[in-house]
Parts: sequence; C-alpha cells; structure tokens
Amino acid sequence: MKDTYDIIVVGGGPAGSMAALHAARGGASVVMFEKDREIGIPVRCAEGTSRAGLELVTGQVRPEWIAQEITRVQLVAPDDTVVDVVTSGQVGYVLHRKLFDYDLAAMAGEAGADVVTRAYVSGIIRTNGRIGGVTVDHLGETKTVHGKIVIGADGVESRVGRWAGLKTRTLPKDMDTCVQMTLADIDIDPETIILYFGLNVAPGGYAWVFPKGPRMANVGLGVSGAYSKEIKPVEYLRRFVNRKFPDGKMLTLVAGGVPCVNTLETITDDGLMLVGDAAHQVNPMTGGGIINGMIAGKMAGALAAEAVKKGDVSDKRLKPYVKQWMKAEGRNNELCYRIQQVVDKFDDADLNKIAHTVNAIDPQKRTMGQIFRTALLKHPKLIVEALRVFGNI
Ligand SMILES: Cc1cc2nc3c(=O)[nH]c(=O)nc-3n(C[C@H](O)[C@H](O)[C@H](O)COP(=O)(O)OP(=O)(O)OC[C@H]3O[C@@H](n4cnc5c(N)ncnc54)[C@H](O)[C@@H]3O)c2cc1C
Repeated sequence: MKDTYDIIVVGGGPAGSMAALHAARGGASVVMFEKDREIGIPVRCAEGTSRAGLELVTGQVRPEWIAQEITRVQLVAPDDTVVDVVTSGQVGYVLHRKLFDYDLAAMAGEAGADVVTRAYVSGIIRTNGRIGGVTVDHLGETKTVHGKIVIGADGVESRVGRWAGLKTRTLPKDMDTCVQMTLADIDIDPETIILYFGLNVAPGGYAWVFPKGPRMANVGLGVSGAYSKEIKPVEYLRRFVNRKFPDGKMLTLVAGGVPCVNTLETITDDGLMLVGDAAHQVNPMTGGGIINGMIAGKMAGALAAEAVKKGDVSDKRLKPYVKQWMKAEGRNNELCYRIQQVVDKFDDADLNKIAHTVNAIDPQKRTMGQIFRTALLKHPKLIVEALRVFGNI
C-alpha cells in the first residue's frame, strides 16, 4: 500500500471491483480497500443475475462463476396458483458469488489496481476543504492515504457518502430486510427460479427459491421495512421453509438490507463518487443490485480516470457519470419504483385474481410486461392506483 493514489475505492464488492478495474484500465493509479478478511465473503445475496446483464457488463461469462443456469421463472400467488412466465430460453444464472467477487477483484488487480483486505476505511480526509483521501485501519495501524478521487462502493451500510455530507438516509418503508438460507437436500427443479408472493409469505416483498444445483438452493425472502416490525423476517422465513422444505439442511443463514428506492439525489461531489448499493442503485422492484452496481462501477471508474488525466476532479467534471447512469438504469429504476408502489397496494385477494386472469391468457404471451398490463386492465381498482402513482399512463 502506497501513501498516495489517484483513485481510492472503498469496498471490494462487484461495484467497487468494477470501478477499480476500469479506473486502472484508464491509466490511473488505484487502490481498493476491503474491510473483510477476504473478498467475496460473507455472501449476503441470492446470487441471481440475468444472462444478458452479466454478458453486457463483463463481456464474458466465466464458467467457474456459474452455480446454475436458469431457463424458467415461476410466480406463485398466495393461494398457490402458479404462473409460468414466458422467457426467452436462457434467463440467467445463479452465481457462486464467492468466486465471482474474488475474480472481479483479481481482474482489477491484474489491470494494475492495488487490492488491500482487512482494511477498514474509518473516515475521509479533506485537503483545502476538498476530499483528499481516507484514513484506513489496517493490521492494527491507522494510516492516511491520499487520493484525488474517492469512490464509495461500501454497500448498503455505506458511510462514505454520509462522511462527505451527502443525504443518504432511506425511509424504513424503502429498505427491505432480507434473510436467506442455503438449503441442501431439497426437491427442486434446478433450472427454475420461483418467486412467492403474499402478505403471509413476505409482506411488501417476496420469497425466492434460487437453485444452486440439482438439490440445493438459496431460499430467502425480503420484507419491506413498513412491515418488518410486526413479525421478524427470519420468522417469516422459518415458516416458509417449514412449509416448503421441512427436511432441507441449512448450510448458511444470512441477513441484509436492500435499498428498494430511487438513486440517491446526489452521488457525486468534488473528488467523490458513489456506486452500487452505496448510491442506492438496486432495481427497486426485484432487489437486484449486482449488475446495476457493476454498470455504475464501470462508468464511474472510467470517468474518474479521465478526470484525473485532465487534472480536474471537480463535481462538474464528474457529473457526466450521473447522466450516464440515469440513462442506462437510473430512469428505469425510477419507473420500477413507481410500479412497485402500485404493486404494494395489492392484497392477497388481488394477487390471486391477477394470477387467475393471467393464467387465462395464451401461455406464449405470459411475459412480465404482459402480466402487468393484464393485471391493470382486468382490475379497475389497480388502474386507479396506477393513475394515482403515475399521474397518467
Ligand atoms: C439476502 C440478499 C439477497 C440478494 N439477492 C440478490 C440477487 O439475487 N441478485 C442481485 O442482483 N442482487 C441481490 N442482492 C443485492 C446485492 O447483493 C447487492 O446489490 C450487491 O452486492 C451490491 O454490490 P456493491 O458492490 O454495491 O456492495 P457490496 O456487495 O455490499 O460490497 C460492499 C463492500 O464494501 C465493504 N465495506 C463496507 N464498508 C467498508 C469500509 N468502511 N471500508 C472498507 N470496506 C468496506 C463491505 O465489506 C463489502 O465487501 C441481494 C441482497 C441481499 C441482502
């Protein structure tokens, strides 16, 4: 570890590694600090990604990243009605995130970035009023490391933005609490991911079964913060698992928050950029943040390297990152957030009715878009909700 770098990345998740990789490829000197002992551990994720997204952002899919290919998606209504969603064949993957995150960090290292684990960034420092680096606790010592740009990729519990004075607060209703078990020795179709809905299953969210092999899956659920006080999310999960997989063998139990909300209003400042969960870039409908974080990391890293080269790391010079992000995914996230607000109004009876209506349409036409449109058209109550949320559609 040196005393000075062009770019300091805080956090070694997918967003941070992509930022470090693309900043290093852009010719900047880069360090990425990760507080945990090892990149990729612990895994607090169901590990699902779309195939198209992964290919787009990495340019290649290494076979060792893939635990399971997914070809089918099922939605299950509260009354257990199953809706088979039409997909284009190869939907996506359930990853081995341990290996995936590790590999991304290694790629950043191969591109020239220094990667330091057991390095807890404990604050940012200012030089002449501007962000000028970080303090980092590493192997029993606190060091000051100078940098022209700090990229906060420190995940859902991000502190970098807050230290820099940005508004990073999330309302409880917009924060899903997720809990998940990896279960072995269970009967599943390994190529199908299943999402379960209902107020008794996961209020304000959904439960998932993401296969990791022929008889193993990540089984979890997310409960909106608006509900998680009444019954603990882990209790919902215990009930779900007892009902669906009573004989499953629990290999892991993890919990974590997912910000299901729009991108933070401000994600850049002089010498500062936020990426990934730290910037609230998760898709608010699905809770998926791996690909989005990587897209943002790639954009931020490349632009940061250019800014350093041009000798201007002002907020104005870094702002095109915000524009790129909003065009690529941010606007879509805003739409998803509004749709989610409509979906949140559905009670179990609505969800059951929607599932029955959707199952009456041609199976070949049951795409996600068509399911939503059918739900709206056949259920006037939902149109009213949609108009309220969208103003006009
Ligand atoms: C239960 C659960 C299931 C999920 N399932 C999916 C899914 O199936 N698909 C999907 O796309 N998304 C899923 N997500 C969301 C996804 O995990 C995140 O969106 C994604 O990991 C975000 O990547 P990131 O790099 O922004 O943050 P993270 O992956 O959280 O990485 C942040 C890193 O920063 C480090 N760090 C934090 N503070 C500091 C500090 N001060 N100093 C140094 N290092 C620090 C952390 O240790 C961590 O390694 C799930 C989330 C949860 C909780």
